Amino acid sequence: MTDWKLPWSASCICGQVKMRISAPPLIAMACHCRGCQKLTGGAYSLTLMHPGDGFEVLEGQTELGALHRAEAQHHYCTRCKSWLYTTAPGLRGMVNVRPAMLDDASWVAPYVESYVSEKLPGVVTGAKHSFAQFPPPERYGELMAGFAKEGARPA
Ligand SMILES: [Zn+2]
Ligand SMILES: [Zn+2]
Repeated sequence: MTDWKLPWSASCICGQVKMRISAPPLIAMACHCRGCQKLTGGAYSLTLMHPGDGFEVLEGQTELGALHRAEAQHHYCTRCKSWLYTTAPGLRGMVNVRPAMLDDASWVAPYVESYVSEKLPGVVTGAKHSFAQFPPPERYGELMAGFAKEGARPA
């Protein structure tokens, strides 16, 4: 259960931005917070957290959008405005990739869900671990170890 079938290709909905992922994700999360609801226009956001050196934009132009705050940079396609990935000083070189952009997202399942305190009615993600807000920082090591062992992989 260690074959991640890397590298993965990803693109925005218009195809202008093409990305490649060459390192396994450290965790798969769903976030139900009100901010993620507004960012996605959906019930929750899905995230795969990858080491920054395992992620590259191969072609196309990206720009910052959403909150324009120092604590989180949301990167978008300049043409179709798809939300592609997020970087932040607090992520320490990690990149939060939106797995919907993957050419094959059929296997993606969240291992952890956050902000269930703001979850919309009827939403079920199947995540093994649920937190009212974000997991406390001291839990991430254990959650990442669990994900490395039993998190969903490409079929
Ligand atoms: Zn959120
Ligand atoms: Zn695009």
